[in-house]
Amino acid sequence: MKTFHITTFGCQMNEHDSEIMAGMLMEKGYAPADSRDSADIVIFNTCSIRENADKRFFGTLGTLKKRKMAEREAFTVCVCGCMMQQQHIIDTLKAKFPWVDVVFGTHNLHELPKLLDNLYTEKKKQLEVWPDGGEIVEGLPAERLFKHKSFVNIMYGCNNFCSYCIVPYTRGRERSRKPEDIVAEVKRLVADGVKEVTLLGQNVNSYKGCGEKGQADFTDLIYMLADIEGLERIRFMTSHPKDLSDKLIEAFKNCDKLCKYIHLPVQSGSTKVLKEMNRKYSREHYLELVKKIKTAVPEITISTDIIVGFPGETEEEFEDTLKLAEEVGYDSAFTFLYSIREGTPAARREDQVPEETKHERFNRLVDLINSTSAQKNAEYVGRVEKVLVDGASRSKDSVYEGRTDGFKLVNFLGPEGLEGKIVSVKITDSNTFSLSGEMVRE
Ligand code: SF4
Repeated sequence: MKTFHITTFGCQMNEHDSEIMAGMLMEKGYAPADSRDSADIVIFNTCSIRENADKRFFGTLGTLKKRKMAEREAFTVCVCGCMMQQQHIIDTLKAKFPWVDVVFGTHNLHELPKLLDNLYTEKKKQLEVWPDGGEIVEGLPAERLFKHKSFVNIMYGCNNFCSYCIVPYTRGRERSRKPEDIVAEVKRLVADGVKEVTLLGQNVNSYKGCGEKGQADFTDLIYMLADIEGLERIRFMTSHPKDLSDKLIEAFKNCDKLCKYIHLPVQSGSTKVLKEMNRKYSREHYLELVKKIKTAVPEITISTDIIVGFPGETEEEFEDTLKLAEEVGYDSAFTFLYSIREGTPAARREDQVPEETKHERFNRLVDLINSTSAQKNAEYVGRVEKVLVDGASRSKDSVYEGRTDGFKLVNFLGPEGLEGKIVSVKITDSNTFSLSGEMVRE
């Protein structure tokens, strides 16, 4: 029996793709290895979001050459993911890493078992990168990281072409799954012990599923899933402010299973920068959305993504971002230094912001976000929160960690066997990134 090991770079989409690859391989009789060094098949699931990601990836890949040369056919090296959808990466692979055995992209991930079969039977390298998405393949198995929660892809690709982003080029145009296929998958997951699903898409708000009963939008889909008995929590990732509907905001109020947490990427607080980013909303529109959300659900937690140092960003425009972040009062934020993505419109701009300025602005933003997060977390002290227990804390032995409905990370002491259960925890302390507390016995 051959063993495999997958190294995953990047976002939840990639994480879930890796779960699917693991599921397909295990169904075919391959077994997971404990480490990359002990695996017969090594797979790299790549990401192209970060600058220099390719250099780092090729560096890691290069470390396998010696083993490959020594073990030859007994050791298989596969690479896949977003990076492989870019021609210059494929060219580099062919030129500098000809010993890689199997290469495939985001669109034909389901072909991995077949590509391995071909490799082993025909004894020749497999290079299969599809340029476009084609039909959505249903019914793929997945080897989940957690028994009690799962990612569920509801759509693939993106039509938005934000001027800094490579995703529409690597994951293709938007394609939504049929609502009944998603409902059937979630029912299967719930029957297998899942209590929480996170619906995944680059822009879930533009989901349009054409089903047996006509077209369903994202909010319709949430209500369909909420009807599934045994499913306790529904989350989603990621929203685009331009497509966030009043209907979805109402659902936060009316649908108990929809977690009271929204990740709403703003990217910049300056309308001019947002226009240049091709985000298709203004600062005012974004703030109006936040107001509506908070009015509908005052206890909601909000996180965001912010890019610092987009080409041409002035000090004043950056200060608009700081002011917006202060006004919204984010519970948390993913902050990024703008970095060039080859092939995107923003990469061609000549008014790139100097690195030093970007770093200085970044630090100011992080200070503000951290201080707001700490304040927001402190408000939880004394409250009792329902926590879905993920397992033992990574930082401390004998301490559990889990998430509240609002996606706050909670550490607490508890008896054995709580993993996957929803328990009540009284919050006794807080810091910038997490809460801690004591389990309340009911
Ligand atoms: S919405 Fe914009 S940032 Fe998000 S994946 Fe699509 S193009 Fe990229």
